[in-house]
Amino acid sequence: MRIDVVSLFPDFIDQAAAVGVVGRARERGLLTMQGWNPRDYAEGNYRRVDDRPFGGGPGMVMLIEPLRAALAAARAADPAPVRVIYMSPQGRPLTQAKVRELAALPRLLLLCGRYEGVDERFLQAEIDEELSIGDYVLSGGELAAAVVVDAVARLQDGALGDAESAVQDSFEGDGLLDCPHYTRPVEHDMGRVPDVLLSGNHAEIAKWRRQQSLVRTLERRPDLIDETALGKADRRLLAA
Ligand code: SAM
Repeated sequence: MRIDVVSLFPDFIDQAAAVGVVGRARERGLLTMQGWNPRDYAEGNYRRVDDRPFGGGPGMVMLIEPLRAALAAARAADPAPVRVIYMSPQGRPLTQAKVRELAALPRLLLLCGRYEGVDERFLQAEIDEELSIGDYVLSGGELAAAVVVDAVARLQDGALGDAESAVQDSFEGDGLLDCPHYTRPVEHDMGRVPDVLLSGNHAEIAKWRRQQSLVRTLERRPDLIDETALGKADRRLLAA
C-alpha cells in the first residue's frame, strides 16, 4: 500500500511512522510513504501558503494553488487509484471499520490542514472524504494523519507477527472490547493471574475471555453492544 501525505510538516509524520510495527511494515515494503509540502509548490520569495480569510475574523486559511500543485504532484507519482482524505474535526469519525476499509485500498492521500483550515473550494473540488480522529480540535492535521497511517499500516498482510495479532483486538470481529491480558509472574503483590488462564482448558479460556469482553463492553462502551441481540450463549455468560 502507498500513503502520500500533503502537509506543511511532512517530516513529522515520516518520523511518527518510523518506529515499531509501522516502521517494520515500511522496511518490509508493505507500506510506502511520501510527503508533499505545499510550500515547495508556492510562488514568490516568501513561498506563501496561507492568507487572511475573506469576511474578516481571526486566523489564516490555506491557499488553493500550493495545495493544488502538491496534490497534483502526489497524484502523478503513482498510477494506482487514490482516495483523497482531508483530516478534519468536521469529518466522519474514524472507526476500526473505516480503518479496515482504508487498509484494503492500494493508495491513500492524506491532506493535513493548519491554521483555520483549507479554502473550501479546494475541499469541494479535490477531496473524496473528510475524517476526524475525535471531537476536539488539534492545531494541525499531522497527528490525525499519523493516527490513520498507524492504524492502517498494522492491518497490512504480514505487518503484525503472531504476538501482535489484530484478530482479538477491540472493535474487531463482532465489535466488542478486548478481554484483559496477563503475563508472568503468576503471583504478584498486585494480584494473581485468574486460575482459568492457567488451566490449559482452551474451551474454558475462550469462554472466560468472551465473558470478560462482554462485561467490559457493557460497562465501558455500552454503545458498542446491543444487549437484546445477544445469543443464548452470551446471555448465559453474562448471567454467570
Ligand atoms: N477551524 C477548524 C474547525 O473548527 O473546524 C479547525 C482548524 S484546526 C485548528 C487545523 C487543522 O487541524 C485542520 O484543518 C485539520 O486538518 C486538523 N484537525 C484538527 N482537529 C482535528 C481532528 N479532530 N481530526 C482530524 N484533523 C483535525
